[in-house]
Amino acid sequence: MSGHNKKRPIYLDNHATTPVDPAVLNVMLPYYQEKFGNPHSGTHFYGWEAREAVELVREQIAALIGAEPGEIYFTSGATESNNLAIKGVARMYRGRKDHMVSCVSEHMCVLDSMFHVEREGTKVTYLEVGNDGLIDLGALADAITDDTILVSIMTVQNEIGVIQPMAEIGAICRERGAFLHTDAAQAVAKMPIDVKAMKIDLLSLTAHKFYGPMGIGAIYIGRKPKVRLEPIFSGGGQENNFRSGTLPAPLCVGLGKACELGLAALAEEPARLGEMRDHLLGRLQVALPGIHVNGGMAHRVPGNLNISFEGVRAEDIMAAVPDLAISSGSACTSESDESSYVLRAIGLSNDLAESSLRFGLGRFTTPEEVDYAADRLIAEISRLRQEKRDAGISTGATAPVLDEVK
Ligand SMILES: *Cc1c(COP(=O)(O)O)cnc(C)c1O
Repeated sequence: MSGHNKKRPIYLDNHATTPVDPAVLNVMLPYYQEKFGNPHSGTHFYGWEAREAVELVREQIAALIGAEPGEIYFTSGATESNNLAIKGVARMYRGRKDHMVSCVSEHMCVLDSMFHVEREGTKVTYLEVGNDGLIDLGALADAITDDTILVSIMTVQNEIGVIQPMAEIGAICRERGAFLHTDAAQAVAKMPIDVKAMKIDLLSLTAHKFYGPMGIGAIYIGRKPKVRLEPIFSGGGQENNFRSGTLPAPLCVGLGKACELGLAALAEEPARLGEMRDHLLGRLQVALPGIHVNGGMAHRVPGNLNISFEGVRAEDIMAAVPDLAISSGSACTSESDESSYVLRAIGLSNDLAESSLRFGLGRFTTPEEVDYAADRLIAEISRLRQEKRDAGISTGATAPVLDEVK
């Protein structure tokens, strides 16, 4: 481990954020330097230049998700896009259709937006998830009524990486006459997405989850069928009046490049990450008894692994491996003491939820880093368990448990 002491920790938390790809930063820099114009300045070259650049980005985003460029609007990220989709649609259709459907394992920015519109008079049905992390399609169909304006189901869960069957969900929503919104922050550029084929009406994405800069994202708002929504920001009416405010051209350009790279990477990156992820899981399963994979493996983004280690607390593991950057759940809840509501929703006990670690492999993760991480985790978890046994405390973990959910 001495070789790693002087280095920065190995980054295995690519669900929280990803490093900016150097090629992304390169295209951004000129827009901070000589091409610094306001894209809304219509009277001179600086403005025209910046405007042309951001309009090209709409095409790059649209190409990645199968939308039309005119259906793409910039926001500050997925939190804002989710707020706009849920609050904007609830308010626009208030008094006509006042019911929404969502899911208990959504990101907190979706759930909190739902809690907000509930206080404004919208009724919300929260679907449960199975121990594989997926919703039940029959329960979804049953939940939609004539009063349902919006269904909001995330494409990929940010803690356990499971992929909801969006095409099936979209078909049910379209048939029942409800709009479908999806928080695709963890899905975009990690798996193919086609909003038309999947019948998605609103989609949220954010650049910093796929090697673009923090502070920029987008919302896709479909035109066929046409979704109407009330803006949250009052102002100059930019973005077709959906989102007022000056577009940050350097960030927009970075988002566009991240989309272009992401689309190209779909050809090989998922397979490469999946191999490293399976290698990590295999090594841990062989060396450590009492480990549980959380969420189904069959429908899961390749860079994700979420594991509970019986008899040891995630906090203690993380403290023992400061040379690894890992997390015990979402970055948003890592400052609170509560165990993950997502892990509890898939049926984990509090103890197992508090023994869980999330691994997020990304574009810049190497096989050597994965092996180093496996070595360190095996050594430290074995040591922590031995210390407990020496103190006369049972760790529960005696034989390898290979009980992953398919
Ligand atoms: C990161 C994330 C968000 C928040 O995105 P920001 O752009 O950081 O606001 C929302 N939903 C999911 C699923 C995420 O992973």
